[in-house]
Amino acid sequence: MALTADQLPEDGAGRILIHDATIITVDPEDRVMAPGDLVIDGARITYVGPAGGPDAPHRQGEFARRIDGRRSIVIPGLVNAHTHTYATLFKGSYERMPLDLWLVAMRAPTRALDAGLLELSTSLAAVEMARTGTTTALDHFFGNPELPGAGIEAEIRAMRRVGVRHAVATVLMDMSWEDTLPLDPQALAAAKAAADDVTRRETAQGLEGAAAFIETYHRSHPLTTCLIGPSAAHRCSDALLRGSRELADRTGAGIHLHVGEAKSHALRSREVFGETLVGRLDRLGVLGPDVSMAHGVWLTDGELDALARTGTSIVHNPASNLKLGSGVARVREMRRRGVNVAVATDGPCSSDNLNMFEALRLAGLLHTSNQVDPEDWPSAREVFRMATIDAARAANLDDEVGSLEAGKRADLVLLSRDSVAWAAYNDPFVQLVFTENGGSVDRVFVNGAEVVTGGRVTGLDEYALYREVDAARRFLQPAVDAARATIAPLADPIGRMGRALRDTSVDDMAPEQRYH
Ligand SMILES: [Zn+2]
Repeated sequence: MALTADQLPEDGAGRILIHDATIITVDPEDRVMAPGDLVIDGARITYVGPAGGPDAPHRQGEFARRIDGRRSIVIPGLVNAHTHTYATLFKGSYERMPLDLWLVAMRAPTRALDAGLLELSTSLAAVEMARTGTTTALDHFFGNPELPGAGIEAEIRAMRRVGVRHAVATVLMDMSWEDTLPLDPQALAAAKAAADDVTRRETAQGLEGAAAFIETYHRSHPLTTCLIGPSAAHRCSDALLRGSRELADRTGAGIHLHVGEAKSHALRSREVFGETLVGRLDRLGVLGPDVSMAHGVWLTDGELDALARTGTSIVHNPASNLKLGSGVARVREMRRRGVNVAVATDGPCSSDNLNMFEALRLAGLLHTSNQVDPEDWPSAREVFRMATIDAARAANLDDEVGSLEAGKRADLVLLSRDSVAWAAYNDPFVQLVFTENGGSVDRVFVNGAEVVTGGRVTGLDEYALYREVDAARRFLQPAVDAARATIAPLADPIGRMGRALRDTSVDDMAPEQRYH
């Protein structure tokens, strides 16, 4: 099914003036205007600056609309730099499950998703993101490998309908799941038997498919860009990683992958490839400013230095790392060494929501410790940048979005000050990170189009969507039950592996990493 013009969201219509608002720009000087004005013309911002009286030059000429911002805080649209929207229908399905087991539990149900269900899944994700102030999502898309393009077109259609900007990374991998874990021989045999039909299909996609996907979709629409998405460093051969780099160089699309999410992955890389995860990527020439990597929990100092040297970004997912017991990323150390760090939610099935304000709060809370000086704790201003301009860089979109500056795309959020979060207005950055939960989101603009009004999305009927989702989830229950049966024989070997890993010393790993 091809996308047609009538499915494209409306671009900004004419000029819009938002006047006398509190404006958090996140521009290079990190300016806050209070009061400030912002002018949208079509898809772009043409003025951000101090509010002017009626005679101010930027207030001259015709405006299609004038929005009184006196009770609004205007922020750049948040950028969720790592998620997997295809899995939204399975949110809330699992708990107390480590990552390596969860991966298998999730894969089988996704094979029950046809194009319609994938579109529903991404629609629900896009609604949640838009309503909580996210205007751009980097969507690492696994989908259903049995569908053409794994069903990616359904994802793009849903994102465009709701009006969320999307950088889509199509997933590549060519190593079987069970071969990427440090299992003993007996456990490996059990894992192979139980997981065979789960992993077999994971190798179906290849570089040719990725090239075709990028040719079809990259910059095919104002809201759509693409990335190459190797699943994870330890799940890809040298050839696949080198091929991803070549494809990125040829097309101008960046690369996004998982790296060092679990201790097992870091150890397996040393066993199979004889080097660290990032050391291998560095040797293969994969790293660079157009590369972002989710998690980076189990990285050594040397690996962090390689990221800083090459300008590679890390995308930190605090809720997912906590929910799946993966560990705590060394964000203070990354930033101290000059690594660009974004914050994100990860998939709606690993952390069970897509609310970037929760991710901000967790990122603000997780990296404090009475073992380090408070001045080394990340500040609210720094954390807020991790969800805006730093995240835009991780999505290869920092020239276009991530801050409120003249010339950039008009992706912005109006938070209402007539709310629980903002009635007591003190420090905007502290409150954005620690107080706001998305409940104050009033209006959201993406590419100049108003996609949320009064807290509700404008592109579809939310309540009709919720009813459809409810019916779909009930339809999918047998697939979730089947997945539970599939993983039952794996719980014991993976549990044993996890216990063994606790006592496994990784000599070149930073000492504090051994105890997370
Ligand atoms: Zn992920």
